Amino acid sequence: RAVDDEGEVRGYVPSMGQMFLRRFQLVTQFRQALEDGQVSVHYQPKVSLPNRTVLGVEALVRWTHPEFGKLHPDEFVPAIEAAGLIGALTSFVLDAALIRVRKWLDTGLRISAAVNLSVRSLTDDGFPALVASALDRHAVPPELLTFELTESGVMADPERALPILRELHTLGVVLAVDDFGTGYSSLAYLRQLPVDEVKIDKSFVFGMGTDLGDLAVVRSIVELGHSLGLSVVAEGVEEDIARDQLESMGCDVAQGYLISRPLSEKRLEAWLQARTA
Ligand code: C2E
Ligand code: CA
Ligand code: CA
Ligand code: CA
Repeated sequence: RAVDDEGEVRGYVPSMGQMFLRRFQLVTQFRQALEDGQVSVHYQPKVSLPNRTVLGVEALVRWTHPEFGKLHPDEFVPAIEAAGLIGALTSFVLDAALIRVRKWLDTGLRISAAVNLSVRSLTDDGFPALVASALDRHAVPPELLTFELTESGVMADPERALPILRELHTLGVVLAVDDFGTGYSSLAYLRQLPVDEVKIDKSFVFGMGTDLGDLAVVRSIVELGHSLGLSVVAEGVEEDIARDQLESMGCDVAQGYLISRPLSEKRLEAWLQARTA
């Protein structure tokens, strides 16, 4: 059973038939849900190691559905993507994130925001122009925006993805490879990509306190990343011991429940205030 951001157990487990129907409903209701304010963005802080400064946040989409309750992205993003509606979702999250960064800049804070990109955006030639105009509209410097992309997303259609990634990189936005370590071609292809950051997949970070294999994977990703001049981020940091190990390996950034769960905009503001008070 899944646990949500507030730590509550989410109990409802639908049957196959119900799931099919639900998927269909989600796809047909999505645009209206965006307009009705059912879709929101939560933010999870990323802190520097070792000094724990808040460098940025990852934007994570949420849907409070009138019938199904609070939905996490794993429950609706794949369906939205398959239905060809991901562009609307990405624009929504991008706008929300840039509005947040702009508000911080106005109060003297430089905190970046990371937005997850789906495979579809990486095959959309118009995407870099859309990003450039969003940065312009919100008057946010490009280095305060990060895109997180998965290896499978890039490898689905590298011929189309690469020029788009290069264009994004030329704009000056930061590119990160998400869920690193879970794919096959990882090491070889990382050199070819115009990326600035690797995010070690949380499955390795969870196990590193007890599993020597996981610890070895994490250590080698940190070393590989640094040897390629990349910043290394660990996600899924839940325990002090993991943070301490990451720190001693020289991992640059930590993200996970130990630091904070993803928070609504309001809770994030309170969290930031409490930290700087
Ligand atoms: P992801 O990009 O790998 O995001 C990290 C996920 O791990 C988030 O789940 C986050 O809540 C969770 N997490 C963070 N720290 C910890 C921890 O310490 N322990 C544990 N157990 N989990 C942790 P979430 O928010 O449910 O998002 C799931 C996935 O949905 C994301 O995985 C991402 O691939 C996708 N997603 C989220 N927002 C968007 C979006 O706006 N657009 C697209 N295309 N995909 C999104
Ligand atoms: Ca991510
Ligand atoms: Ca990830
Ligand atoms: Ca993931």
